Amino acid sequence: MPILHDFHMHSSFSSDSTASMESMIQSAISKNLKAICMTEHYDIDYPNYFSDPTPPFLVDFEAYRAHYLELEAKYRGKLEFLFGLELGLQPHLAQTYYECIKKYPFDFILGSIHTCNGNDPYYSQYYFKDIEEEEAYRNYFKFILENLEVYDGFDSLGHLDYVVRYGPNKDKFYTYEKYQDLLDPILMKLVSMGKAIECNAGALSRGLKTTNPNSIILTRYRELGGELVTIGSDAHKPEAIGADFDFARAVLLESGFTHYATFRNRIPQMHKL
Ligand SMILES: [Zn+2]
Ligand SMILES: [Zn+2]
Repeated sequence: MPILHDFHMHSSFSSDSTASMESMIQSAISKNLKAICMTEHYDIDYPNYFSDPTPPFLVDFEAYRAHYLELEAKYRGKLEFLFGLELGLQPHLAQTYYECIKKYPFDFILGSIHTCNGNDPYYSQYYFKDIEEEEAYRNYFKFILENLEVYDGFDSLGHLDYVVRYGPNKDKFYTYEKYQDLLDPILMKLVSMGKAIECNAGALSRGLKTTNPNSIILTRYRELGGELVTIGSDAHKPEAIGADFDFARAVLLESGFTHYATFRNRIPQMHKL
């Protein structure tokens, strides 16, 4: 079965998107998707690279919820439209995030690491400055684990190897084996926490050969007992919704999965691949 659920996307409620939420819905309908989940960015203490008067990646939750409800009602029957969030995890924010997610009835929460040691790998001129690529990747993986030790208020770990998208050599020299000593503990921790892992198809349009993470890592997650994989395009514009989902499906089948997961009221539902 083709993948008909896109569980990672952003609209203009995220600082790095100018797309209207309604344009995302219309694109999903035109692509015959069954369900999409908005996962707007919420990154407290994100580095303010451009000295913006308002710090980036904060969410006006009241406005977000109100607009979501309006559109959910408007498109009911045409598309299942879900209310989510992509939390930018940092260990010191755990308590603040627990408080935040209690306030709104989220369907799905992605836990992602966008900031490590005070920098976002996206801004490679800072994150990769004066550091070897391998060490920079290792720091990122260690930081994931530090977050998992203190925070479990999410459903799926977003783009596990996000850092690789922005490395000087991207995934050219990146292998599971090279980082196994750090990746295995992350995967084991996710399994013991009962958390899903995301297969992020957005990596392909960002210059990588495959999804974040790749089939070898997804296979390892499954071998360690992991059963829940969510799928997202990480679209920041309408045309990117559902992009490369056939590729993602092939990656999951190759990894030995027969189903993928979506969430409603934070409860997983399984769909055949
Ligand atoms: Zn992200
Ligand atoms: Zn995202």
